[in-house]
Amino acid sequence: MTDPALQLIQSDTAEKWQQILADLITDPKELLEILELDARQNPLGEHGLEEFALKAPRPFVARIRKSDWHDPLLLQIWPDQREALASKALSKDPLQESRFNAAPGLLHKYQGRVLLTAAPHCAIHCRYCFRRHFDYAANTPGRQQWRQALDQIQQDSSIHEVILSGGDPLAASDRLLAWLIDELEAIDHLTTLRIHTRLPVVIPQRISPPLLELLARTRLRVVLVAHCNHAQELDQAVSGAFSELAAIGVTLLNQSVLLAEVNDNVDALCKLSDALFAQGVLPYYLHLPDQVAGTSHFQVQEEQGIALVRAMRARMPGYLVPRLAREIPGADSKTLLL
Ligand SMILES: *Cc1c(COP(=O)(O)O)cnc(C)c1O
Ligand code: SF4
Repeated sequence: MTDPALQLIQSDTAEKWQQILADLITDPKELLEILELDARQNPLGEHGLEEFALKAPRPFVARIRKSDWHDPLLLQIWPDQREALASKALSKDPLQESRFNAAPGLLHKYQGRVLLTAAPHCAIHCRYCFRRHFDYAANTPGRQQWRQALDQIQQDSSIHEVILSGGDPLAASDRLLAWLIDELEAIDHLTTLRIHTRLPVVIPQRISPPLLELLARTRLRVVLVAHCNHAQELDQAVSGAFSELAAIGVTLLNQSVLLAEVNDNVDALCKLSDALFAQGVLPYYLHLPDQVAGTSHFQVQEEQGIALVRAMRARMPGYLVPRLAREIPGADSKTLLL
C-alpha cells in the first residue's frame, strides 16, 4: 500500500515542474522587468522573435544577475539584434540532418548508437541552437511512427545505445517516457539509454520522484548528458537534482557550447568544470557553435577554442578538461579538435 502522505508529495512535485513548464517567460518586457533592466536603454536590441520565440523558465531566470545586460545567462536567451546579421558561412541546416533521418524522429549517423527525438519542444530557447530552424512538426513522431523507429532499432543488432534527444526529451511526460523506455528495454541488443537534456539545469524540479523511479528500475545503463555553459547556471537546486540522479546510479556528464561573450575565456571554463565536478558531473564535450544562421555574434574561431582548451589543460586535471568538438556533416563521429 502506498503511503497517502507520500503520494501527496509525489503529485505535488510532479505538478510543480509541469507548472513551471507551462509558465515560461515569453514576453521580453516581462523578462526585462524581472531583471530590473530599462528597455529604453537596451544595448542588445531585439530581433527574430517571430522565427524563434523567447522562452525562459523562471528558475533559470532567477539566476541571472539583476541590472546587467551582459550577464552570461541572459546573453544565452536574449534575441539580440545581431541575429539579423547575415553571413554566408552560416546555414539553416548546418548538420545536414535532413539527410540522416532514417525513420521519423530517428537519426542514425554514428556506429552503435542512434538518436531518437522524444519531445518536440524545449523548456528554454537557447539563441545559439541549430534547432532554431528545425522542423519539429515533421520530426516528432506519434506512437505509431515511433513504432517504425523502434522496429528499425530492433532489426539492427549493431545498435547498443539509444540517445533520447529533442527538443528536450525531459520535456516529455513521465508517462510517455515510461512507455518509450519499456519498449527500448524489450530490445535485447540495447545496453545503454542516454538522455541529452538541459532540463536538470534549467528546471531542476523536473528530476521528480516518478522520473527517478523510472530511471532506477530500467535494466538499461543510464547516462545523462546535461547541458550547462556557465558556472552561474548551477545553484543548490540543480545540485540536489544531480545528487538524486547519482544516488540511483545514473552516470552524469555535461556538454557545453563555447560562446563568445558567455564563456570564451579560461577562467569561465575552469570555473564551469570545477562547479560541475562539485555537483558530481564530469565535462564531456565543449562544442564550437554550429554554423547556423542568426548566430554570428556567438561564433568563436577554431584556433581560439584550441588555445582555450590547451590553457585549461595546463591548469586542471585531465578529467576536468572537456573534449573540444565540432560536428562536420558526413564524418563518422564528432570531430575532435583537441
Ligand atoms: C552527437 C551525436 C551522437 C553521440 O555522439 P557521441 O560522440 O557518442 O557522444 C550520436 N548520434 C548523433 C546523430 C549525434 O549528433
Ligand atoms: S535543443 Fe538544447 S540548446 Fe537547443 S534550444 Fe533546446 S535546450 Fe537549448
